[in-house]
Amino acid sequence: DSVFSHVVQAPEDPILGVTVAYNKDNSPAKLNLGVGAYRTEEGKPVVLDVVRKAEQILVSDSKRVKEYLPIVGLAEFNKLSAKLILGADSPAIQENRVTTVQCLSGTGSLRVGGEFLGRHYHERTIYIPQPTWGNHPKVFTLAGLSVKYYRYYDPSTRGLDFQGLLEDLSSAPSGAVVLLHACAHNPTGVDPTPEQWEQIRQLIRSKQLLPFFDSAYQGFASGSLDADAQSVRSFVADGGECLVAQSYAKNMGLYGERVGALSIVCKSADVASRVESQLKLVIRPMYSNPPIHGASIVATILKDSDMYHAWTIELKAMADRIISMRHQLFEALKARGTPGDWSHIIKQIGMFTFTGLNSEQVAFMTKEYHIYLTSDGRISMAGLSSKTVPHLADAIHAAVT
Ligand code: PMP
Repeated sequence: DSVFSHVVQAPEDPILGVTVAYNKDNSPAKLNLGVGAYRTEEGKPVVLDVVRKAEQILVSDSKRVKEYLPIVGLAEFNKLSAKLILGADSPAIQENRVTTVQCLSGTGSLRVGGEFLGRHYHERTIYIPQPTWGNHPKVFTLAGLSVKYYRYYDPSTRGLDFQGLLEDLSSAPSGAVVLLHACAHNPTGVDPTPEQWEQIRQLIRSKQLLPFFDSAYQGFASGSLDADAQSVRSFVADGGECLVAQSYAKNMGLYGERVGALSIVCKSADVASRVESQLKLVIRPMYSNPPIHGASIVATILKDSDMYHAWTIELKAMADRIISMRHQLFEALKARGTPGDWSHIIKQIGMFTFTGLNSEQVAFMTKEYHIYLTSDGRISMAGLSSKTVPHLADAIHAAVT
């Protein structure tokens, strides 16, 4: 008998499990709107042209070796990543008070940041939005933090519960960590307005809460890298401290390369350097050092102004295609006379639409229409195309009537 015979079957991950179910479906009409991965109009995954080009440059450079990177990753990548999110002219960077470490995509950056806070920060409570990306509570709990929620989404307006958010952050203990989605909130697609961000910033600073930004969609929300970084930059411009987890999964399409960065903006260069020394102690026993290929691709693109420009154009095209899917789906529901107000489909931003469909309606759409999405009614707009919009609109129409 196996020494593991007592091990019970674990449930599938609520998001990645959708793909598992999708793969088992033999219907030609099947549609995967679960996982947040960009697809072309033909439903195919893409590698950006600029990424292919960077890879060719890397491959043809015979001097390149596959030695270990330092614990903190590729130095050039870290510098360029900090500039990308904080802005090239950021005083915090110029004053050397930002430490940036390469991590395993957004998830790894959140985890390393969480572990660091769990060891070295005085307040162990982290407030995360309700709802949020399903992995957040698990990542932070395992990092040793105590997870609490702040109100974020109001189902009745399908918009921001701004009053609830302010109330919950006001009653948080001084010093608590607050997780903020930098842009394109997942799963709701609802972001604060610039004016609301400003109030949130003032509240966070006045209560000495510690902001931890999750930036998984820079450039994907609006199509502009700078516009999507505005929330983070306003918190750095006030001179205060914060953490930022960056992912290149979506905006460079480097999903499986697992390339991301954690930056910690500190008050002084001296503190930043000590913080970095402790980040190394978090990383070394976890995975020693990060992988080299993805970070080299990113650095190759970010440091070359022509390639950088080419990237912004491809990125904007992805963002624009998603926005156009929103309009097509909205129009398709209008044409069918589907009951209800569906304007949130065009108001929400980023990769996802939080449809408002409940878990029974989702189950119905999967069973009858072979459309796969998470049970909270979130659909990945990036998985849709002009060809599949009518099928989805039929399914939604049938589910609500
Ligand atoms: N944060 C949010 C809000 C996300 O949506 C995602 C990706 N789904 C991530 C972080 C992390 O993704 P990755 O680890 O692939 O970069």
